[in-house]
Amino acid sequence: MVLLTATPGLKTSAYFPEAALDTARDARKNFPPMFHVTILGSGSAGNCALVESAKARVLLDGGLSAKQMRERLALCGVNPSEIDAILLTHEHSDHAGGVEVWCKQFGTPVYANSLTAEALRRASGESKTDWRVFTTGADFEINDIAVQTFSVPHDAMDPVGFMLHHGGESLGLLTDLGFATKLACERVRQAHTLLIEANHDEKLLQLDTRRPWSTKQRIMSRHGHLSNAAAATVLAEMLGENLRRAVLGHLSRDCNSPDLAANTVRDRITSAGAAPGSVEVFVATQREVSPRFAVGAAGGAPVCLAKASRL
Ligand SMILES: [Zn+2]
Ligand SMILES: [Zn+2]
Repeated sequence: MVLLTATPGLKTSAYFPEAALDTARDARKNFPPMFHVTILGSGSAGNCALVESAKARVLLDGGLSAKQMRERLALCGVNPSEIDAILLTHEHSDHAGGVEVWCKQFGTPVYANSLTAEALRRASGESKTDWRVFTTGADFEINDIAVQTFSVPHDAMDPVGFMLHHGGESLGLLTDLGFATKLACERVRQAHTLLIEANHDEKLLQLDTRRPWSTKQRIMSRHGHLSNAAAATVLAEMLGENLRRAVLGHLSRDCNSPDLAANTVRDRITSAGAAPGSVEVFVATQREVSPRFAVGAAGGAPVCLAKASRL
């Protein structure tokens, strides 16, 4: 395992001034130890989010390149050696594509179920990845974060969603699923912040002339991806519980837009009785690092001191 100190291991680029790490670290000192989430990037070109508690830093999925993850973490003031674990939802490259290179460099333990780990092991051959295999449905802990896992329907070996708990606050991750099963909705019902897939607008997908019918069918199938309307329904059903924030992610570039996704969700939860402003709706993008959100409270602090470089 290679341990990096604050700056020597971090390469500078036009997008990434060396001073950014120090500045971001200083900014972070203003926050009390709480439960935070920052989306490092979300979309079909790669998904990764940083979760921080008092005693743990965890990546949810590792689908950006290792270099991108390192650079975007630096924008958050986090050094790669400070990451305690990577949690994988499934083996698709937009969720796990950066993990092998990352692990060669930093030796971070990777938590996945056995079929997901096996699929990635087969693809990479001999690898030194430090696998921590869990059974789907099992609960476990990473330092002071309690993790619940549950099955979701998607065209992967054994895809899962996560619910993370720390200090009485809960963060749900529900991405890459063809439809929201009763089980999945039940598992994330108490989340204060939910990261949920809002992949496409159903009409735009049907009208899209660039995708062959078979691809559209796969996306719309019960093992494909969640539409804006389907995500909105999940969120509407969570009203009256703890929900403070919805983070919409994994947006299709061609068949969706941030405004369309956010408006579909806002309209739906408003008509379901949400008071104006009671649920914050944020759209995560591929290229930008999100603000650093406190899981159980409204508002967030921008961490993006420079635009992340293009993928
Ligand atoms: Zn997938
Ligand atoms: Zn995906």
